[in-house]
Amino acid sequence: MYNRRGFLGRLGSFAMVAGTTTMMPRFLKAEDFCSEEGQLHKLTILHTNDVHSRIEPFPMDGGKNQGRGGIAKRAALINKIRKEEKEVILLDAGDMFQGTPYFNYFGGEIEMKLMAKMGYDAATIGNHDFDGGIEGLHKHFTTQANFPLINCNYDFSETIMNGHTKPYQIFQKGAIKVGVLGVGVELDGLVPTVLFKETKYSTPVEKANKYAAILKNDEHCDYVICLSHLGYSYENKICDVTLAKQSKNIDLIIGGHTHTFLEKPAILQNKENNEILVTQVGWAGMVLGRLDIYFERNFKDKCVQCKNSTVE
Ligand SMILES: [Zn+2]
Repeated sequence: MYNRRGFLGRLGSFAMVAGTTTMMPRFLKAEDFCSEEGQLHKLTILHTNDVHSRIEPFPMDGGKNQGRGGIAKRAALINKIRKEEKEVILLDAGDMFQGTPYFNYFGGEIEMKLMAKMGYDAATIGNHDFDGGIEGLHKHFTTQANFPLINCNYDFSETIMNGHTKPYQIFQKGAIKVGVLGVGVELDGLVPTVLFKETKYSTPVEKANKYAAILKNDEHCDYVICLSHLGYSYENKICDVTLAKQSKNIDLIIGGHTHTFLEKPAILQNKENNEILVTQVGWAGMVLGRLDIYFERNFKDKCVQCKNSTVE
């Protein structure tokens, strides 16, 4: 169970990269946190989605996003957090490619290379990651990336990507065993077939539940994260909100695709009436998502603090 009082959301610090301001939560009381003695294990989850080849910040052209985003500032922020926190996992929910001339010219090489340099632990695949064709994804992933691409509902067996993705991966972060699985959006109708070729899509809910059960029950993961490129909320097609409600054994969905800026994760009930969080941090790397999960001694009780940071 999540401790709702411990879920501070936006009250958590909203650090500015340039200003290095870390505001203390305004309404902080001691009981907002897990008891100090019980806080034996802390996991810091950092996440991005839909970065869309935004290597440099938005230009200073008077636009509403001017100066925001950019790999250099994100990398500096990530490095700072890594120095402060012991157990950090860095994840991306897809659409790494497309959106700036860097992609048009280099086809994804720069994005993969810089994500590898930043030490991403894993990413999932978005629809735009096929924009250079599945051959382009294959070429730049296999030559530049040092992190796994995680997806459990695309069947790549008839494609050049066969054997290059994983349905899930387990990360041991100190005493905490973290399971990560990934799901992608239906490509048919969204991406020209010539780009994704023989990639076969299957329904995300069953696949996600299948691998989440493996991670929770067989592998005994303490925390299960689903990287999703389904989109936050749709009325009549599968999305993160629906997946969350129909899911079992997933603790957190880190989403993408709809470019939704959530100031803090939504708290929903899964199929077994357990709490599940759904988050997403817009697009273009303008926000670095951050959740600190505090695990009590028994690993069952945990509380969560949201400390998303604007990258500007
Ligand atoms: Zn996108």
